[in-house]
Amino acid sequence: MAGIQSAQEGDLTRFSTDCAQCPRLARHLESVRAVHPGYHARPVPAFGDPDAKLLIVGLAPGLHGANRTGRPFTGDYAGVLLYRVLHQFGFATHPESVDRDDGLRLPGCRITNAVKCLPPANKPVPEEVRTCNPYLQHELQTLPPAPVILALGTIAHSAVIRASGLRQAAYPFSHGARHDLPAGGWLLDSYHCSRYNTQTRRLTAAMFEQVVEEAASLLGTGPSAARSARREDR
Ligand code: SF4
Repeated sequence: MAGIQSAQEGDLTRFSTDCAQCPRLARHLESVRAVHPGYHARPVPAFGDPDAKLLIVGLAPGLHGANRTGRPFTGDYAGVLLYRVLHQFGFATHPESVDRDDGLRLPGCRITNAVKCLPPANKPVPEEVRTCNPYLQHELQTLPPAPVILALGTIAHSAVIRASGLRQAAYPFSHGARHDLPAGGWLLDSYHCSRYNTQTRRLTAAMFEQVVEEAASLLGTGPSAARSARREDR
């Protein structure tokens, strides 16, 4: 399976960190670079195993997390629960994701976002979700047969449905839902593991563990994969 690659001229489905198709987001990143010259502040590529059968889809980079470090859910609160639980189920070699150079690997798992650029106030407009959707579509097309896609929140869920060419009304978002995909594989839904959702306990650790456990079970992985990932961690 091919991984996510740099843009090729004329091929708008191939992600590039030079993409500037969304004028509002490109302007916003320019202003962020002026205030934080050390930040990545560009489109953030997917991270993880190029042969992953588990694809996690978040919303968009966070200002001081992925937008700073250049790696999804890395360096801010949003990644705390995500990576701890991925490690618990063998999908990450470490329980924390601090920096792009921390040596973390995600065996069998890849993480991306529905919108690859930091949006103002963490809120992309629908047109930006649509404009970025071909990149997600390409990511889905490169997954092996019978994958599990885990959508974090309603926008990520809708982006996956759009990228899969399915009818939104036939696949409503609901935390803990499992949707059988016509092309094979499954879409699982979870509330986003944002600071707000975890601190208000809209999403508890137990709720999120249950969803990732289901992903592991569908993929036929579980405790043995977790033990193996921990061995690699030593
Ligand atoms: S959000 Fe996606 S399509 Fe829009 S500028 Fe960023 S990478 Fe390009």
